[in-house]
Amino acid sequence: MCRNIRKVKLMENKSTIKKRKKKVSTPVKVLKVTGTVILSMMFIVIITGSIFATALTIYVLNYVDSTTPISLDNVEMNFTSSFLAQNPDYNEDDPNTEPYSTYYTLTQNGERRVWVDLEQVPKYVRDSFVYSEDERFYSHDGVDFKRTFAAFANMILHFADNDFGGSTITQQTIKNITSDDEDQGAAGITRKIREITRSINIEKTYTKDEILESYLNIISLNTNRYNIRGVQAAANFYFSKDISALSLGEAASLAAITKNPSWRNPYDHLDNNYERRANILKTMLNNGAISSQEYETALNEEIVITGDLNFSSGTDTILDSIKSQGVASYYIDESIKETRSIFQEIYGLSYDAASEKLSGGGYTIYTNVDIKMQQEIEEKFKTDSTFQKYAFDNDELWAAFYCMDYSGNVKAVVGNRGEKKSVLCWNNATQSLRSPGSTIKPIASYGPALQKDFIHWSSMFKDEPIVISNDGIESFWPKNYSEVANDDNWSKKNFTATKALALSLNTVPAQIVELLTPSYSFSFLQDNLKISTLEEKYDANYSPMVVGGMRKGIKLSELVSAYQVFGSGGKHYDAHYISQIVDREGAIIYSAENSYENVLDESTSYIMNRMLKTVIDDSDGTGNAAKVNGVEVVGKTGTSQDWQNLTFVACTPQYVSGVWVGYENVKKIETAKYNSISKIWKNIFGDIAANEEVKEFEASETVKQLKYCTVSGKLASKTCTSSATGYYKESNIPEYCSGNH
Ligand SMILES: [Zn+2]
Repeated sequence: MCRNIRKVKLMENKSTIKKRKKKVSTPVKVLKVTGTVILSMMFIVIITGSIFATALTIYVLNYVDSTTPISLDNVEMNFTSSFLAQNPDYNEDDPNTEPYSTYYTLTQNGERRVWVDLEQVPKYVRDSFVYSEDERFYSHDGVDFKRTFAAFANMILHFADNDFGGSTITQQTIKNITSDDEDQGAAGITRKIREITRSINIEKTYTKDEILESYLNIISLNTNRYNIRGVQAAANFYFSKDISALSLGEAASLAAITKNPSWRNPYDHLDNNYERRANILKTMLNNGAISSQEYETALNEEIVITGDLNFSSGTDTILDSIKSQGVASYYIDESIKETRSIFQEIYGLSYDAASEKLSGGGYTIYTNVDIKMQQEIEEKFKTDSTFQKYAFDNDELWAAFYCMDYSGNVKAVVGNRGEKKSVLCWNNATQSLRSPGSTIKPIASYGPALQKDFIHWSSMFKDEPIVISNDGIESFWPKNYSEVANDDNWSKKNFTATKALALSLNTVPAQIVELLTPSYSFSFLQDNLKISTLEEKYDANYSPMVVGGMRKGIKLSELVSAYQVFGSGGKHYDAHYISQIVDREGAIIYSAENSYENVLDESTSYIMNRMLKTVIDDSDGTGNAAKVNGVEVVGKTGTSQDWQNLTFVACTPQYVSGVWVGYENVKKIETAKYNSISKIWKNIFGDIAANEEVKEFEASETVKQLKYCTVSGKLASKTCTSSATGYYKESNIPEYCSGNH
């Protein structure tokens, strides 16, 4: 680029000299002529000597330098990394469909570069560059000596300038690969000679096509503001087209940029671009690369510049050292974070180095996203009526959603309502720590107690508090403040464990945690269900384990992930956004293991699943509004103290999902204005659930359905007048009722 600016200056100087010449008087003219003759003779000597010296140097270095390892394969180039999504329209039997499609691309240092194979680049695009830069590309051996010597002589004639000019495509490629761009003084000459020898060597190793392919992918096609690298990224940016779809006029327009991008790019200087484009087309015509008709059409073709930063998606935003091609979805944000931590682990890199490696390394990352689901939920989050009971302004309620399948694959994540404005912005699903309220009950009390056979489906509990001791002061705790309105007092009535869960009573799980001990519940959450934000000092206690009153809170993502054990037969998988990472050479550098731990036995899992079904199905169940016709929904609502956070987690036959709402600055939610949390979940996920292929959970063969007495909670005997069906483990079947009622 600098070289060309100097060239323009030189030309200006030349014309000034010419103008001045006209004005000089005769005696001066004689002197001038004599001087010119002497100078010319000197030049001839210098030039001849220089040419000889150069040729000799090249000859020597050609052999001396043959070991210099310049490889087109291992070039340190910044390539765009791509995130792929499973193609929802993929059909194994249709060869026109691909299993994966590009979901998002990342670039580094603001450079837009998308690799393109030479076969994808039309002949006239290649020719435009060849005839613009290096007419004899296909016939020389890396260096065009005719041009080199002419340029060399030109440099000598103009003294001050060390510019040899006349770089071939091979030489330009070397220059770009090596970042060896010293062009001043002796170092400049040495650099040039090194470049020449390397070019000759690389032509021995690689075919012309391989060299041209590298060149077309590395060439700078910048505007004054955006760094565009390579012909594909340029076609995307300037014309919103794939390289294969360019017209001849557009191809020549791209080729016209190379000589001097800041001056010739069509985004900033369309006229300058046209000027150079005309020259290139003329050269192509003269060399028979295009017909005169093609020439005329292309010459008169008006270029429409789109300046499209979002040919792939979104708008341009830069954040957290990741510079991207647009606003990524929340799913991509999480995929970036996961990939980065994998790089940190397998390469032992710092956070920043891992970021750079990811964004510039040309990796292909396979995500687990369900693209249709993700987009559908993003739309639901932009719709006020998903959340609001009626239309009103100044709606500041935040929300989050998270969904995964029962094999550890995250399918969708949305971190807040409204339009996402930047990459790696705050994500309420994966970053916010909030009280989960009563959604903690199945995982901290009912689930582990069932597993240990401390309780069964119809274990009877009296709705009354336990006595807890704080700093030696004993008190009755807890109240039933949660979902059952105006039910602060203790009814002292008996409830089965299942009914207490459906009504979300606080007293019963308090009694259950007392049986288990708070530290047992704490370990179960932390060690078995991998909830990472608990603090033993504060959270191995009654309030956190019974009603979710943790010191910091937990993430929606980890809460949802914990609930998978109620739909998976007790298996717990670590959640993954990505399944595989492939490097630029096609080598798989990471594959998700998808291993699991059996956290609950299968029968406990199924019984808990059936208990959670009553939360939705019972007319007085707190999750009643989440009922979806035609498919089983089992789940649990959660309201934290003073109605500050509302959470709902649900298992459907194929997915486990959860939604949270609350304010940025924690305060009471104006529930009169908003839908219930289970209704919000249904608004977001109801259609997706209704369309799941599997409609029911697989029953556990070891679980028995038995009639129990609703008065005693024991197995119903003939004398019992009121009975219902419960689900029981073989290891914990109650005795028959002996009461007479
Ligand atoms: Zn009975």
